[in-house]
Amino acid sequence: MDSEIALGYLHDAGFEIETNPARAEVLIVNTCGFIEAAKEESIAAIFEMAEYKKTGVCRCLVVSGCLSKRYQDALWEEIPEIDAVLGTREMDLIPEVIARVLKGERVRLVRDQHFAYDQPEVPRIVSTGRHSAYLKIAEGCSHSCAFCAIPLIRGPYRSRDLRALVREAEWLAAGGVKELNIIAQDTTRYGRDLEPKSSLELLLRELVQLNIPWIRILYAYPATLNDSLLDLMVEHRNLLPYIDLPLQHAAESVLKRMHRPGNFDNYLGLIERIRNKLPQATIRSSFIVGFPGESEAEFEALLKFLQAAQLDRCGIFEYSAEEGTPAASLMNQINGVIKKERYHRAMSLQQQIALNKQQQLLGKTLQVLVEGRSSESDLVLVGRHQGQAPDVDGVVYLGNNQVQIGDFVNVRITQVHPYDLVGEIREGDVN
Ligand code: SF4
Repeated sequence: MDSEIALGYLHDAGFEIETNPARAEVLIVNTCGFIEAAKEESIAAIFEMAEYKKTGVCRCLVVSGCLSKRYQDALWEEIPEIDAVLGTREMDLIPEVIARVLKGERVRLVRDQHFAYDQPEVPRIVSTGRHSAYLKIAEGCSHSCAFCAIPLIRGPYRSRDLRALVREAEWLAAGGVKELNIIAQDTTRYGRDLEPKSSLELLLRELVQLNIPWIRILYAYPATLNDSLLDLMVEHRNLLPYIDLPLQHAAESVLKRMHRPGNFDNYLGLIERIRNKLPQATIRSSFIVGFPGESEAEFEALLKFLQAAQLDRCGIFEYSAEEGTPAASLMNQINGVIKKERYHRAMSLQQQIALNKQQQLLGKTLQVLVEGRSSESDLVLVGRHQGQAPDVDGVVYLGNNQVQIGDFVNVRITQVHPYDLVGEIREGDVN
């Protein structure tokens, strides 16, 4: 969403948005830098874009976001192709910075003051299509998970103003958004820091009244996912029964070292509670393997948990030691070969579980939101059903039909894979 706000400021300043880097005079890489894989991806993107200064028309390369906030000195000193280094809070200043670079200056600007998301004039260009958008309800995080650099990069949790969020959601709905994905580092903490106090439930009670058929909540925190939220999902059809609950591990001893709540039994109890209230819920989680000191027995407890929980979707990540976090200085860092081996064991178990869950959808008819043409073939359409969140989950592939992006269609599932589905649109079922 920060990139979309930056695009809004650029548009307002008269810049034309060009998506082909070879034709762009200004290239902006908004980086992510909270784990090793994301850092590597961001650095690769910077070098890839820097090439266009030689082969394209690029006259200004701007790098912003988490990685550049965290490693601003290294980027500034070691990559001279970068013309401007910004942090995570300078979206409104990008047009001014570009103007300075185009006059010959090299600019470095990482400010302390937080970005004021709730000012009424903050512009935004939705980049995820007219039909789907994210709504960021808070910034930062006040948890202290031992492996995580996000609180260091983004600061403490700050909820956005409820009225400003409702206004933004109304604006998105008026623009044709049919799916709203609610995000924050921890969505279930929303409102506790506001004066007077508010809550995610209060915000959702307002959002479900809007004309948005799919509202999905991502990134719930296990200790604060309460029954009233599940009850709201039961009560309102447009609040999707999709639970994204990063658990990170299942062995209590590892969770304690991670400074995370919970244990094997109460996490399993939580999954059971969700399924009792919402039998049709899609449950997604993420786990870290190879956290410092993770013994074979602790890792096996995680496998046992995956087997018992039968989650619909799971992200498995190899632990990466992040500078400045407590876990980075723990003894007993696990060697890379073991981490990789555990990653593959966990992934292959979860893939089998996910495939078995997908099998249950074979022959069923699901409502699918059409997203566009497949990148592999113009003859194939891609959509998602309500149990598939954008960017992280799989998709539904459909034959070439006369439907529009943003249409809801009823699709009979004809093939299943661990992540994706294939189906056919039922005649006359476009709405
Ligand atoms: S809750 Fe998430 S963002 Fe916050 S410290 Fe833990 S892992 Fe990081």
